[in-house]
Amino acid sequence: MDRNTQRNVSRNDGGTTVPAAVPLPSNTADTPPSIRQKLINLLPPATLLGVVLIWMLVPRELSSNPWAIVIAAFTTSFFLLGLEQVFERHESWRINRREFLTDLFYMVLMYTAVGWAVELLADGPLYALKSQLGLATPWIAQLPFVVQVALVILLIEFGQYWMHRAMHDIYPLWLTHAPHHYITQLNAMKGFVGNPIELFLISLSVVALFDFDLVALFCAINVLGVISGFAHANIASNPPLFYSYIFTTIRHHSLHHTALSYEDTRCNYGNSLILMDRIFGTYREGESEIVGQDDRRRWSIYEQFMFPFQPLIDRFSKGRDKGSSTN
Ligand SMILES: [Zn+2]
Ligand SMILES: [Zn+2]
Repeated sequence: MDRNTQRNVSRNDGGTTVPAAVPLPSNTADTPPSIRQKLINLLPPATLLGVVLIWMLVPRELSSNPWAIVIAAFTTSFFLLGLEQVFERHESWRINRREFLTDLFYMVLMYTAVGWAVELLADGPLYALKSQLGLATPWIAQLPFVVQVALVILLIEFGQYWMHRAMHDIYPLWLTHAPHHYITQLNAMKGFVGNPIELFLISLSVVALFDFDLVALFCAINVLGVISGFAHANIASNPPLFYSYIFTTIRHHSLHHTALSYEDTRCNYGNSLILMDRIFGTYREGESEIVGQDDRRRWSIYEQFMFPFQPLIDRFSKGRDKGSSTN
């Protein structure tokens, strides 16, 4: 199968049976949710509140340590993985050893190599440019903590929305993003799974141009990770409208991962703020249990790393074959 032509077609003909990814109705049942389900539905907003409070209350000498954000990101991700064990959404998404180790590999990659690359090639130069131009926004650090967190989230998410949308519209960018869409089940750490070029591109932001308080910046990054974590997690939580109108949920994002067709993935781009899709006209209602693309074959890490270079590799090998056949 030619993987490079999958953009515009639904490949349900690859030999493997691909069950239809039928968007499910909102909140799945007409009967009102039980008290237990209502409490489960409140898990994402309650966790967000808890995360913000912890960042506000922990002494600064601890929260401003560069390792604080790494520890917080891993702790919250493992918390969500724990919730998956108790409040499972779909048995077909149940995590196994292979999925867990793959996800963990990508999360470590994000906080090491990708993070360093972003610092070296993007945030560092942007910060140097800011100093050179004499740009200073000290008033930002004086704003209330929660306002700064909200501003960072808005800045990052605005960029991520358009980058993600461009990845679905522009073929070379799609080549970097496609591996994220070939994952065949969703879990709390799946937001980190993707080609390293995509992980780099999606991490770009203009936040370095502003003088945000470091702890507010860490808190915002942690909050974004938690929202995106819940939006990929196998947790049977459907948060109420006060949350799901603004923040991306697993319902929105599972529909973005639908295996129905490539075209059906072109909605709900907001990684953490579904509000962006509501504003820019790409919001779609529904959810999907069946996720993946084409024949829903699971890709290895090697395939995920090499996919953007596949057209070049194919061209090179075709040229070599032609060369050898004429000899
Ligand atoms: Zn996408
Ligand atoms: Zn995703």
